[in-house]
Amino acid sequence: MRLPLALVLFSLVGSAAVLPGCATIAGTNYYSVDQEWELGRQVEADLNRQLRLVNDRALTQYVQTMGQRMVQQTTLSGQRWRFYVVADDAINAFNAPGGLIYVNTGLIKRVGSAAELAGAIAHEVGHGVARHGTSRLSKANDANAVAGAVLGTDPGVAEQIAAQIVAQGTFASFSRGAEREADELGVQLMAATGYNPDGLVQLLQRLAEQGEGGGIAFLRTHPLSSERAANVRALARSVNRSGLRMNESGFDAAKRAASRY
Ligand SMILES: [Zn+2]
Repeated sequence: MRLPLALVLFSLVGSAAVLPGCATIAGTNYYSVDQEWELGRQVEADLNRQLRLVNDRALTQYVQTMGQRMVQQTTLSGQRWRFYVVADDAINAFNAPGGLIYVNTGLIKRVGSAAELAGAIAHEVGHGVARHGTSRLSKANDANAVAGAVLGTDPGVAEQIAAQIVAQGTFASFSRGAEREADELGVQLMAATGYNPDGLVQLLQRLAEQGEGGGIAFLRTHPLSSERAANVRALARSVNRSGLRMNESGFDAAKRAASRY
């Protein structure tokens, strides 16, 4: 069962209070949280064999710290989330079931501020905490197939997810409603962890400008309509931004480290 948005986050932030359009997208999720995390463990093993993970400790720690602080604001903070940096020049970040978030060096080295990077990561955590991945899998499979996959009678599911991610930079195209929900959660998570949500607005603007012609993976995997861009601007404006930061120490070093890949 999907959690109402207000229950997904422990607390709404400051004057952000009630955001418009918070109704959750409909859909049955056949995966329990424990089942999803078990699936994630299998996907993680497959993915990490196939992706070129960055082993720069300072860079991975910077991304992990940013992400884990966001996770702590959610009702799934008790689960084990993993954040990885991938040595890949494609401008992309993605979430996979079971609290997996991967961020490409191509994205980190091209963003202009810590808040822009936080915008990408918060959006992915939003997909993860709203459990869009397993909701999508539930649409494609009935409860019996899901039970079989989780119990290991169909170990191909994790492999298929990993293979699709490696080939396409995402394993599922999410609905507009899911993108909107991830943006809403993302903006709230940014504010809750001290990042100015204008960072998400600027990230999407930057990618839209660079992405004429469809070359930006992040926009392919998280389609940006003018309606979505306007919605994100409105969400950011609805947050009291006093005291929220666009930048922080550590970001420049992380960006430089990403540029070496
Ligand atoms: Zn998305």
